Amino acid sequence: MSQSAVLSNSRSRRCILAGEVMIELSEADKDHFRQGVAGDVYNTAVYLKRCLPEGEISLLTALGCDTLSEHMKSVIQHEHVDTSMILSHPNKQPGLYAIHTDDDGERSFQYWRNDSAAKQWVNLWLHENSLLPAVDLIYLSGITLAVLDNNQREQLLYMLCEAREAGAQVAFDPNYRPALWQSADEAALWTERAYQLTDIAFPGIEEHKLLFGHQDGFDAMDALASMGVSEIVCKNGTDHIQILHNETMVSVEVTPVEKVIDTTSAGDGFTGGYLAARLQGKPVRAAAEQAAKVAGIVIQHAGAIVPQALFHQAYN
Ligand code: ADP
Repeated sequence: MSQSAVLSNSRSRRCILAGEVMIELSEADKDHFRQGVAGDVYNTAVYLKRCLPEGEISLLTALGCDTLSEHMKSVIQHEHVDTSMILSHPNKQPGLYAIHTDDDGERSFQYWRNDSAAKQWVNLWLHENSLLPAVDLIYLSGITLAVLDNNQREQLLYMLCEAREAGAQVAFDPNYRPALWQSADEAALWTERAYQLTDIAFPGIEEHKLLFGHQDGFDAMDALASMGVSEIVCKNGTDHIQILHNETMVSVEVTPVEKVIDTTSAGDGFTGGYLAARLQGKPVRAAAEQAAKVAGIVIQHAGAIVPQALFHQAYN
């Protein structure tokens, strides 16, 4: 069966989203933080599940054995994201980040994730398993790779390679975060290796400028096509979404949101919406329109995850 045929029939889809999930502390007022659960791959899992309720969406990561980890799992379950692949590290804990907003509304992020359980998830997985289970789609990001050591990165790429052989599609968003890498060269190397195993890629123009010196979406698409990526979805804020799919170019306009509240997880929501549409067999243009709609909802709310009821009100 060809890869595109895998996506086009209508049975329920199984997806694994592999990477990091953290506790998010966002300022409620001057003296208090509100506690949430977020992280790029988790955000994508949430929006994918919301747009594809019939899909089985599993988060593959590691948390600890502490009370906070249990609480996070219950929040994830409340999103109907499957937690059966979340590994428990015996003595490490979840990562955490705080969002600070200054008097001008500018946001900054502070992280405590250097020794988190999520940095060990591949090692934990390999204690009991040698490969990933058979699924339709595996999604990971550059942050998934960045938080792992080299040995675990190698093991993960090996598992992806085997999963593709078994018929899974791989989707990848480079989500370049310079602070998580030793150098841009290191990030470029691992990003490129991941692209070589990718079917659906979500490059951002800005990150490709930094990582590969690309000037625009055409440069990025040329480079990724030559690495064998068959579906390339280039995003660039309010600019057109450009898609190269099986050698055909599609351009989709973005309607700018008038009042942007917070762009955190715009890209994650976009990816979740896009993948949901593709897994439902929709063509790439409709998928990009759905992705832009989800991202447009996300940026009109504070924080990574829009409350369920508000999301469904805006989405349906
Ligand atoms: P990332 O968060 O990965 O950097 P972008 O900033 O490129 O991603 O945004 C991802 C998508 O979010 C865009 O393709 C677009 O659909 C949507 N988006 C971002 N900013 C806006 C905006 N101001 N108005 C409407 N949609 C937006």
